[in-house]
Amino acid sequence: MWRSLSRFLFQQPCPCCGRLSSQVLCQGCQQRLRAWEVRQRQRYWRGSLPLFPWGYYQQDLKRAIATMKYNNQPELGDFFGQWLALSWFEAKVAEHLPLQIVPIPLHRDKLKSRGFNQAALIAKGFCRTLELPLAAAGLIRQRPTEALFQLSLKERQANLANAFCLGHGLERQRWLLLCDDIYTTGTTARSAATVLRNAGYKVLGIITVAVALPDQLADPTVKATSSKASVHSTTAP
Ligand SMILES: [Zn+2]
Repeated sequence: MWRSLSRFLFQQPCPCCGRLSSQVLCQGCQQRLRAWEVRQRQRYWRGSLPLFPWGYYQQDLKRAIATMKYNNQPELGDFFGQWLALSWFEAKVAEHLPLQIVPIPLHRDKLKSRGFNQAALIAKGFCRTLELPLAAAGLIRQRPTEALFQLSLKERQANLANAFCLGHGLERQRWLLLCDDIYTTGTTARSAATVLRNAGYKVLGIITVAVALPDQLADPTVKATSSKASVHSTTAP
């Protein structure tokens, strides 16, 4: 709260580049991030668990998400939530359905060490912007997933099978929309959706700040924008 107020009153260093700015992110960084915005979201909004990503998990956006999570910049979560909300609003996805947003939870150990759940902050910014109800504790992560990176896809799925359980505050009459920072294999999202669906809830899909999929480099819009942003390194940090 104090951070937002002080940023409003005084300029503060941009968390991504350090330049003084009255906004959470300076104009230059906002412009750089927009180069990674997904232009053809309909290609992801399909299947049993449709995905609505804001951008591609590449370069500036990848660094900004890392800054938020590992450099203790929770304000970026709310900021990304607002961007996601504006894109959702413009795309007119499911505009007539009653929605409730459910962030993918962190295990309590991770929450304790990081101090915040980025997915919850993104969901909060999204809900505030669109005046939608948030089920901040709709899901609970009952198992830590720290070691998942070293596992094969099959092991990962088995490990995640019981990772989540129902929390509270979910509304049966609404369509639940999951929210996370990054969508990679979709294993986490599917596991969360399964828990909700098995309990009789309707799950519409998942919104994320970024999508990291193997086919993203084949997307012509990415090639077009990355050539414009040629001042940046083409390899991920
Ligand atoms: Zn900046």
